[in-house]
Amino acid sequence: MSATQAPSLVAVGHWINGEQVASTSGRSGIITNPATGEPIAEVAFASIAEVDQAVASAKAAFVDWRSTPLSRRSEIMFRLRNLILENREKLASIISLENGKTMPDALGEVARGLENVEFACGVANNLKGGYSEQSSRGVDVYQIRQPLGVVVGITPFNFPGMVPLWMLSNAIACGNTFVLKPSEKVPSASILIAELAKEAGVPDGVLTLVQGDKVAVNCLLEHPDIKAVSFVGSTSVARYIYETATKNGKRVQALGGAKNHMLVLPDADIAMAADAAVSAGYGAAGERCMAISVILAVGSVADPLIAAIRERVAKIKVGPASDASSEMGPLITREHRDRVASFLDSAVADGASVSIDGRSDPAVSTDGYFLGPSLIDHAKPGMACYDHEIFGPVLSVVRIDTYAEALHLINENPFGNGTAIFTQNGGAARQFQFDVEVGMVGINVPIPVPVSYYSFGGWKSSLFGDLHMYGPEGVLFYTRAKIVTSRWPDPGTSKVDLGFPQVR
Ligand code: NAD
Repeated sequence: MSATQAPSLVAVGHWINGEQVASTSGRSGIITNPATGEPIAEVAFASIAEVDQAVASAKAAFVDWRSTPLSRRSEIMFRLRNLILENREKLASIISLENGKTMPDALGEVARGLENVEFACGVANNLKGGYSEQSSRGVDVYQIRQPLGVVVGITPFNFPGMVPLWMLSNAIACGNTFVLKPSEKVPSASILIAELAKEAGVPDGVLTLVQGDKVAVNCLLEHPDIKAVSFVGSTSVARYIYETATKNGKRVQALGGAKNHMLVLPDADIAMAADAAVSAGYGAAGERCMAISVILAVGSVADPLIAAIRERVAKIKVGPASDASSEMGPLITREHRDRVASFLDSAVADGASVSIDGRSDPAVSTDGYFLGPSLIDHAKPGMACYDHEIFGPVLSVVRIDTYAEALHLINENPFGNGTAIFTQNGGAARQFQFDVEVGMVGINVPIPVPVSYYSFGGWKSSLFGDLHMYGPEGVLFYTRAKIVTSRWPDPGTSKVDLGFPQVR
């Protein structure tokens, strides 16, 4: 290599049969460091033949894996839990490099993903069935839950470690074999997870990775050997995944986008509400499906709240995760940063005002995909900044007169992922929890991501399918019930009876 020749990029391949394999498809994508705009790796894009090979290996591994005792599966999950814990800095650095989020944020993601491995360590308890003795004379009825077979996960760029762990922990512990198609923008965290899973004792073929784009996704959605699909990503793709995979006879849970409203009542503690709005609106540069996007400021609360938010935003340090003092990193791509910034222009054109303009942040003039925290005031339904999921560090404030009007806005919004109310009035909070048509609700908690022993899921266009992700609903999703009716009579008492069996 000559001194001027660019160093070759790290190649990120598939993970099939317990090892990383280079792609032969001839198709690939470039992974860019969003903090610098520099290419850092090249990711394989699977061909149909490669997807077939991956699924065949997962199908072959299912036979033994579903027969593996629960205590052994539990033991492997415990080992995986410990290995992820030991390697959490390494995993977080990979996430941070490819996604751009800061190290503390990436470590938080790893910790929340790890919770799901911990839940799956309890697989023996989670899979307990039911037994009814003497349902009829000498007859017992019991229910068992069995794995589905080969199941698929398709994941987004914003949680390269946590969302795969939401899915694969329960899927594998319940006895399925799991094929993951990670986001092509952030594929390397999954490779490390696969390596750790192998070290933990997950047999070859039980966890498989196919890297790629919609060619791989479409092949998985139509593949006759795939029994279920878990998806997390944008609503348009979630709807497509749900429709295509169900048409092909698969069980589907497809989690989509969000527009999360934070309702602030006049009695709220302003400092606490401002801390929450800033943390939940600008953390991870607003690239969280549970980020707060809209503040509904009821009555007199808007002016003091905006003043308190401005005070806090002025102190936020935007910059690359490689600088430990950075509190907010870049957005994922230049195109996405430009789209997010365009909502500031459209807001003004639509009659709102820009109270904080993140385009003037010093980090924006670098080659990274930065945008400083931004605040739009006097937003309203019908404006692009209100109607669309922005997925960036832009908070919009809607000034509103009453609780009832605020509730109406939330309930008529097509998304229903998360919401939060800030108040000191327990009765108002309880009424909100009762009234609001959203899947995950925070009371003085701005990012109410459920702990792993509950389940995660929005309502309306934020989730297509019936079962939420991870936790108890994850176990239901990755298993199917079988009901056994049994009798052990004395053969001498047997006779022909053409009547329909009765139980009394
Ligand atoms: P995305 O929908 O663009 O991509 C998600 C996955 O789908 C990726 O693996 C991608 O390769 C694949 N994909 C993209 N376009 C496809 C197509 N046309 N056909 C088949 N597959 C396709 O989402 P993203 O940009 O990676 O992530 C951001 C979105 O995810 C936001 O809308 C955010 O709200 C949402 N999200 C939702 C949740 C949730 O729990 N509800 C969590 C995280 C992110």
